[in-house]
Amino acid sequence: MLGQGTAASDLPTGGSGTSVLLVGGGQASWMVAKALRRDGFAGRITLVGEEPHPPYERPPLSKGILLGSMAADDAYLGSPSDLADLGVTWVIDKAVTVDRASRSVRTEGGSVLAWDHLVLATGGRARALDIPGAQLDGVFSLRTLADAARLKASLVPGRRLVVAGGGWIGLEVAASARMAGLDVTVIEAAPRLCTRGLPEAPATFLLELHRARGTHIRCNETLSAIAGTGCVEEVVLGSGERLPADLVLVGIGMLPNIDLAAQAGIETASGILVDADGRTCDPAIFAAGDVAEERGARSRTESWANANEQAEVAAAAILGLPRPERSPAWFWSDQYDVNVQILGTVAGAESVAVATPERGEGSWCYFDEGRLSGLVAVNRPRDVQVVRRLLQRGYQIDAGTLAAVGNDLALLLKSPPPPGPSSGC
Ligand code: NAP
Repeated sequence: MLGQGTAASDLPTGGSGTSVLLVGGGQASWMVAKALRRDGFAGRITLVGEEPHPPYERPPLSKGILLGSMAADDAYLGSPSDLADLGVTWVIDKAVTVDRASRSVRTEGGSVLAWDHLVLATGGRARALDIPGAQLDGVFSLRTLADAARLKASLVPGRRLVVAGGGWIGLEVAASARMAGLDVTVIEAAPRLCTRGLPEAPATFLLELHRARGTHIRCNETLSAIAGTGCVEEVVLGSGERLPADLVLVGIGMLPNIDLAAQAGIETASGILVDADGRTCDPAIFAAGDVAEERGARSRTESWANANEQAEVAAAAILGLPRPERSPAWFWSDQYDVNVQILGTVAGAESVAVATPERGEGSWCYFDEGRLSGLVAVNRPRDVQVVRRLLQRGYQIDAGTLAAVGNDLALLLKSPPPPGPSSGC
């Protein structure tokens, strides 16, 4: 189906004779397909993914789906008939090799899928704990709808859950499990929670939130073994201490699925290396989502918003359209009744508290070389809207200007300082 008002003869490139193969059945693939059709691509689109679900969103897996307030198909980005309406051929199979010379992908099921442009949106898998007992019944990870269904069935009130990893999965599952009536202990290897994405002050806020809701949190601690006869009965900490447990959730990060790219001779590092257009070292092959690593970036970005943006960028490049503007990085997490949003650059930057979260809401602004670079907001979505606009317009806001508006950041939009020499962020 063509985008509204687009005639086949007006297509930028990628006419009906060309084809795009999307490998990976997640959000990035779905968004590439949507963007291609919206912008007039009339060629063949095939999406190959291993899971027996159409592309779905992962954020509900650790919340609504675990708590049973959301059904699996509520997380679908589109139904099978939406995929068909979009003119996407959906293949449930695993891509096992890429042949760049013949421009084809071979699947585990024996199919050979041809492409003119290939998008690798292969995502990642949950990192496993490599300790004795990690294979026992009652040890879970959470990356897919099937994982969520298995864990949900075990969240029985009164059971004791030990969570390995005080990152996003760990904290969201801890909150859901407490709400479901379980006894929860989080074991985090680092000295504090969410070291990778969250600065210290909001991480301390989360620590206090979880402790106030009855979760035991142990930082600077690891699991050295899980013990039990057939199923989990206790965990052994690095310190030697033993904690009784019925369930263990492993949330210690993800490993990007780069094997297919590496096998095809495509350059990889911690992810599949791409340029600013999402292109790999092979100009006909793109990567998007959690698996893609932009050259020169400090690390891969694993987030919902980034998957959408990289998908838009890759689709535009396939069609020969101008590169869409990038927005400030954005990430959110919901834990209990608390919504945390992270916008822009907050790592390693100097911070100023706008409003402390004593009443369950507050924001912290971050400055890079004296200039506003990012925000962490707790239950203050309005601050996110304001700071997003300030960053997009390139306003140079320093700590003094911020202090002058107190906790009403919206005043900054009413009388903004002049745009800086390099607008945007
Ligand atoms: P994560 O956010 O990277 O957190 C993993 C945490 O586990 C880190 O703090 C890590 O510490 C710690 N850790 C590592 N090894 C450990 C060990 N052996 N024992 C105890 N702690 C250990 O990863 P995640 O929570 O597993 O999430 C996986 C992916 O899903 C990420 O991409 C995440 O962004 C995404 N996700 C997103 C959302 C959301 O958008 N709201 C929600 C859930 C998950 P170090 O950093 O020191 O290694």
